[in-house]
Amino acid sequence: MKLNMYVNGEWVDSTNNDLRDFLNPATGEVIGQAVEGTKEDVHQATRAAREAFESGIWSEITHTERANYLSKIAEGIEKNQKELIDAEVLNNGKPIREAESDILESAKCFRYYAGIIRKSIGDVYNVSESMQTMVIREPIGVCGLIVPWNYPLLMSVWKLAPALAAGNTIIIKPSEVTPLTLVKLFEIMDEIGLPKGVVNLVLGDGAVVGNEITVSDEVDMISFTGGTNTGRHIMKAAAETIKKVSLELGGKSPNIFFADTDLELAVDYALYGIFYGTGQVCSAGSRVLVEDKMYDSFVDLFVERAKQIKVGPGDDPNTEIGPLVSQEHMDKVLHYIELGKKEGARLACGGKRLKENDMAKGFFVEPTVFTDVEQHMRIVQEEIFGPVVCIQKFSTEKEAIQLANGTDYGLAGAVFTNDITRALRVIKKVRSGITWINSYHETHYESPWGGYKQSGVGRNLGTYGLDEFMELKQVNINLETSKINWFEE
Ligand code: NDP
Repeated sequence: MKLNMYVNGEWVDSTNNDLRDFLNPATGEVIGQAVEGTKEDVHQATRAAREAFESGIWSEITHTERANYLSKIAEGIEKNQKELIDAEVLNNGKPIREAESDILESAKCFRYYAGIIRKSIGDVYNVSESMQTMVIREPIGVCGLIVPWNYPLLMSVWKLAPALAAGNTIIIKPSEVTPLTLVKLFEIMDEIGLPKGVVNLVLGDGAVVGNEITVSDEVDMISFTGGTNTGRHIMKAAAETIKKVSLELGGKSPNIFFADTDLELAVDYALYGIFYGTGQVCSAGSRVLVEDKMYDSFVDLFVERAKQIKVGPGDDPNTEIGPLVSQEHMDKVLHYIELGKKEGARLACGGKRLKENDMAKGFFVEPTVFTDVEQHMRIVQEEIFGPVVCIQKFSTEKEAIQLANGTDYGLAGAVFTNDITRALRVIKKVRSGITWINSYHETHYESPWGGYKQSGVGRNLGTYGLDEFMELKQVNINLETSKINWFEE
């Protein structure tokens, strides 16, 4: 299988004809090759996007026409869902049920923005008898979208749908590790016949392709999802051209359990919070904070349940968690596990690469639980992005909040308790953008997605996510067109 790039409505090779393998993380086998983009490829794609934007073929069509295109993309995703689900399982390693959710959510996201864009957007202020002020929203122009490998299609769609709804043209780069489903989405958009140059796909390395998109003076905005260090680099690189930057970055999110929570329910949600997606989820509840009164019984049950989780290839319907995405990423996760042991945390279960049956060639790691951790440890402070959880004990509400907020991150957080006043008190103090009370992970397109602190700048989703891709313009209308005589004649 060979994957090409999509520039100005054409499937193209890269300008230097280089190719890069992409793999199945469950077997380590090569699935195919993707063309490896160059700076010149980025220039061609940004020029196409710029010309398409300036021509008005997308930004100046009616909202209804744009919404119809988005609805057709949603239909295309639904029609091709089986192929997309299989491709996500194959290239990312997700279990079928997770891939199914991602693909159907991608269709829903396009439908949501098809609906939202038809709602009139703008404000009118009657500021005085003689002056009326309007605020209108306009597309920013050419948007550069850079996305990670953990939700290859869904994270792309969270950006594509609002950026296109707002009237922008785009250039997008997936992770070099997981290009497959985004290429398939472009096949769907090609079949629908979006005007040439509106959507452009460049494949390749972040340091080359991603960086060139970021520094390009043809690109008006960067919307990035990925690691905090890459985000920091992008913010600096974008400064030269003063372009707008929206960053959805990493997390180390606290999942707080007070002792009045039912024990089985608490453990059930804590497992779901960390191990969904093999822990490769930005908002994963990777720090579980448990009130001292229930700590021992919680740890015993959590460890017992973690050991029962079925790890395996994503295409096995019995699999509950799949492999990590690549050898490189698995090595990073195993390195953190070794670090945790050296730092003096207690390894309560897991900790090893799995090699039984056919797993030896893939990138499988056991669900891993550390207890007796201290706040300063690197396994508590840094994002591991794998099936590794730290369980910490607290004795007061104040201490729970201090521990929860005691990292550089601020993406997500949850509190479990039957005391609603305590739940609200605590959640208001948690410095995170995405929070839950007695729940985890569930989110809706109406709500803004994004982080406080070093978890990012800006928001995806909802009308907030649409605003990210728009400029605001004030229009002041004088209703009394008599002279003002500021300067005497
Ligand atoms: P990375 O930051 O490594 O990569 C993200 C994207 O940026 C990839 O397409 C990558 O390309 C590209 N990239 C790498 N270097 C540069 C550069 N110098 N300039 C421009 N682009 C570059 O993240 P991962 O792919 O490893 O994804 C995991 C991270 O994503 C985690 O930290 C996770 O928390 C975060 N994330 C955040 C979410 C949120 O909503 N806050 C949601 C999902 C994930 P390539 O890999 O091809 O080199």
